[in-house]
Amino acid sequence: MNSKDKLRVLGKVAEFDVCGYPQVLSTHKRSERFSFIYQAVGKDGKCVRLFKVLKTNQCEGNCYYCANRKDRNSPRVSFTPDELADLFMKYYTDGLVEGCFLSSAIYENPDKSQEGLIDTLRILRKKHKYRGYIHTKILPETSKDLIYESAKYSDRISVNLEAPGQDWLSKLSPDKNFARLISSLREISNLNARNPLKSGITTQLVVGGTQESDRSIINLAAKLYSEFKPWRVYYSGFIPIKDTPMETNYPCEPLREFRLYQADSLIRKYGFSPDELPFDANGALPTDMDPKLAWAKLHPELFPVEVNGAAFQKLIKVPGIGKISAERIISARKEGKIKTLEALKRFGTVVTRARNFIILDGRQFTGGDSNKEILQKQLFLWEEI
Ligand code: SF4
Repeated sequence: MNSKDKLRVLGKVAEFDVCGYPQVLSTHKRSERFSFIYQAVGKDGKCVRLFKVLKTNQCEGNCYYCANRKDRNSPRVSFTPDELADLFMKYYTDGLVEGCFLSSAIYENPDKSQEGLIDTLRILRKKHKYRGYIHTKILPETSKDLIYESAKYSDRISVNLEAPGQDWLSKLSPDKNFARLISSLREISNLNARNPLKSGITTQLVVGGTQESDRSIINLAAKLYSEFKPWRVYYSGFIPIKDTPMETNYPCEPLREFRLYQADSLIRKYGFSPDELPFDANGALPTDMDPKLAWAKLHPELFPVEVNGAAFQKLIKVPGIGKISAERIISARKEGKIKTLEALKRFGTVVTRARNFIILDGRQFTGGDSNKEILQKQLFLWEEI
């Protein structure tokens, strides 16, 4: 196989590592030819195109859901570090990609595979003098010195937890140990606390493969944010893959993945605790409306809120008012009272969502359609939910 054929194979199987862009919002069609180009959310909320391939898909692991599992009949290919670095530089120089996401299956053992990624990193940084963005995956059970070496050349590193606990993990990846994955996450968190990486650390969970509940996922995410300070926990909807033991399982609804991102945003940025979120008796988030709206409907005693007097923390709990619009509202209030919905709209408030929960200079509003959901890319990126 030449490098381009390898790229087609290894770009396609890398799609199962997500970079924070919910399927439901994606307008980016991955073509066969450019399967290695992946849409991701950057630190400032902008979309970036990443070159995302595995260094190899030859794996010792036999995870039930994975395209690279050792028992699956599929072509196995590998890049040499030079080959992978040269290819990335070509697409970067041509302007097709803006950054790099390096990952690998586990070939022979985790350290040997991680060393292959480190060799690629060194070539990119030293030989090609590449100074742009690199996200490097830390493979499960990689030794400490190799974690440090990977971090030295990376803007971001990540360890995938895959599931919210051992019981669920065993149903996805029978040979993986949740406690050891948590130890690796702790290791990269400590490293990031001592020597902060430019774009921090992240982790990823597979959603909908094992009947885990939204509550179990969000409870774990809340613990991770408080203990390990990841920049993001990513949620990757399960997709059944042919010729794997999970090929007949149902795929995760893209909307579920999106609701988890919204709930995540509420605990990470809006001061909600997981206990406050509107899970049903089975621990599921509502699908017919976003979790902030569902929470507000369960708490009529807290609304309506007078926009001209409410404190920041109270404003951001109003559906349709996000952190940015709350800041703009508070700053505008210094110039005078906000009296109309039109004015509120100019500050970025989603008025159709907010109108039934607010008072503007003593005036209350009825009507509107707070249930009408606007699945806009922009709303997700700025998290005005
Ligand atoms: S170890 Fe990773 S690449 Fe290998 S089968 Fe499991 S999930 Fe797939």
